Amino acid sequence: MEFVRREYAGALPRPDWWLVRPDEIIAQCENVKKGKAEIVAYTPGGFPVYAVTYGEERPAARVINWPSATGSPRPELYAQSGKQCLMIVAGIHGEEAEGVISVLDLMHIMETGNDLRGFPQPELLALAENFRLVLMPCVNMDGRAISPDCYLGTSEEEFRRVVSTLLKDGTELRYPALKEYFPMPMDQVKELGTYYNSEGYNIMHDAAPGNLRTEEAKGILKKAHQERIDFFLNMHSDGCEHFSISDSFHFPVNQETYRAVNDLWMKIRKHDPPRVYVSHQTDINCAVELATGAPAVTYEHGLKAEGATHDSLLEEGLSVFEALFRYGKDHILADRRKIAGKEK
Ligand SMILES: [Zn+2]
Repeated sequence: MEFVRREYAGALPRPDWWLVRPDEIIAQCENVKKGKAEIVAYTPGGFPVYAVTYGEERPAARVINWPSATGSPRPELYAQSGKQCLMIVAGIHGEEAEGVISVLDLMHIMETGNDLRGFPQPELLALAENFRLVLMPCVNMDGRAISPDCYLGTSEEEFRRVVSTLLKDGTELRYPALKEYFPMPMDQVKELGTYYNSEGYNIMHDAAPGNLRTEEAKGILKKAHQERIDFFLNMHSDGCEHFSISDSFHFPVNQETYRAVNDLWMKIRKHDPPRVYVSHQTDINCAVELATGAPAVTYEHGLKAEGATHDSLLEEGLSVFEALFRYGKDHILADRRKIAGKEK
């Protein structure tokens, strides 16, 4: 399969540390020394999808799944010892490179203490070391392979041109109408948008139990359960910066955790008054929560912030990690007795 990277007209040239193309992502994952890189899936286009882990592995838990644990007197048996485990994934939508560079940056900080620009990040490193981390810098490597490096400097129209899928009859499927197909009708597609893997699946919505269609989604869910994660952060990009959780399937206690992390992040970013974003869709976050009990939320990088630069987008990503780490240092992120309704 041939993958040709598209360009946005007018896009700003990337700095030399903005290494978000598939070969660059693979090299960064394969070169980790302190972390452990593992391939959790292959895309239909043949790219490896990596998870890189840091921190001590959790002691082996008993053989049980989360749904069974919820019905038992002791749901905490699902994951009760070791450091809290955070899973951070990015790049489920190919063109959304900002989360990808943020996760790669966190890997670099874990490896060297410095961010990709060479700036020391001792505070973030110290905070991160409180956790077991499972980092997946780019899930949709097929989409990434045909996506531009970054949105900065280009226009909404250009963004739409790259993301949208063009059918042979001339129809342009744009957001959100593009979600009327799963997968995209590949026999009718003239040019596939960057949202999808190369078989036309939007991995974000590959979340139906018994009908999972992509190796990428299966890899995420398998790894999340295997690691007994306590929080799932799913990094995307949008017009303005915000966290969001859907109201379709999430445990009530986890919605409170989402709001608390969101509030802390808003304080760090000086958003006043704080706002809470709620979506109404069912997506892979819901599936992760069903599989593990852990709160699962999306973060959207703000692409249209006035004066945004590659540096500010990276720093925005680090602010998200900081909020999650600071909150998680002092709180139980997935209190499984409470999540399963055994305690108020
Ligand atoms: Zn997205």
